[in-house]
Amino acid sequence: MWALRGLRNGVLTTRWPARPDEYAAVTRGPATVPTSAARADSSENVAALCPTGAIGVAASGAVRIDRGRCILCGRCVAARPDMFAWTSGPALAALSRAELVVPGQETPEALAAVTAGLRVRTGALRRSVHLRHVDTGSDGAEEWEILALLNPVYDIHRLGIFLTASPRHADILLVTGPGTPGMAEPLRQTYEAMPHPKVVIAVGTDAVSGGIVGPAHDAPTTAGGVGDIVPVDVWLPGSPPSPFAILSALLLALDRLPTAAVPRASRGGKR
Ligand code: SF4
Repeated sequence: MWALRGLRNGVLTTRWPARPDEYAAVTRGPATVPTSAARADSSENVAALCPTGAIGVAASGAVRIDRGRCILCGRCVAARPDMFAWTSGPALAALSRAELVVPGQETPEALAAVTAGLRVRTGALRRSVHLRHVDTGSDGAEEWEILALLNPVYDIHRLGIFLTASPRHADILLVTGPGTPGMAEPLRQTYEAMPHPKVVIAVGTDAVSGGIVGPAHDAPTTAGGVGDIVPVDVWLPGSPPSPFAILSALLLALDRLPTAAVPRASRGGKR
């Protein structure tokens, strides 16, 4: 019965990133400002649209979005489609926190230095990579997406990437949740227990900035997400990010993304 069903369905596992995948291209990411020319009239308070303080307006009226704070509630896109739009596709991760702010604030030189430093550290991790996941107060959404990476559709084992229960065996630390005080020390200890070289990925808007329970609401979380507890190498916004976006962040950290799939701002000196 199951064998027949398998034969009938064929191979469902994605070949992404080696081959394009239609579904990867349409997954939704945080809101953005499509052009740097977007201006807000002095009489309108577009920043008030956002429940997490992701939208900022300069004195000149120039609008910017911190995608690291966006929880994809859709209020800005619904109210001002002329000013805001959704991002799409898996290339959402950034190698610096400043890179998540659009229009960009990161200089190409600073980004190239970060990219080169990470490349040196992860050069030895190309073929067999183990992930340790720590939940620091997540609502559970990111965990579903991380677990989906193990199902037959995404199957990260095909790329030599595996989950491990022990930080002693881990190369990459995936951190979800805003970094609640009770999880700060366990997270620190997990990071310390990992061997070098090690990479930290903040997975989801909560981990990147605190999200809806972050500093904009004076909530009892750490001030700005898990970057206040451990040094973050890759910042992945999304509420939650799709499995394709998580996979893209992993491959970005390992310098294994094809050039076309690397986020434009992170290309730096990509070979
Ligand atoms: S959280 Fe909502 S209002 Fe704020 S930037 Fe994201 S989609 Fe727009």
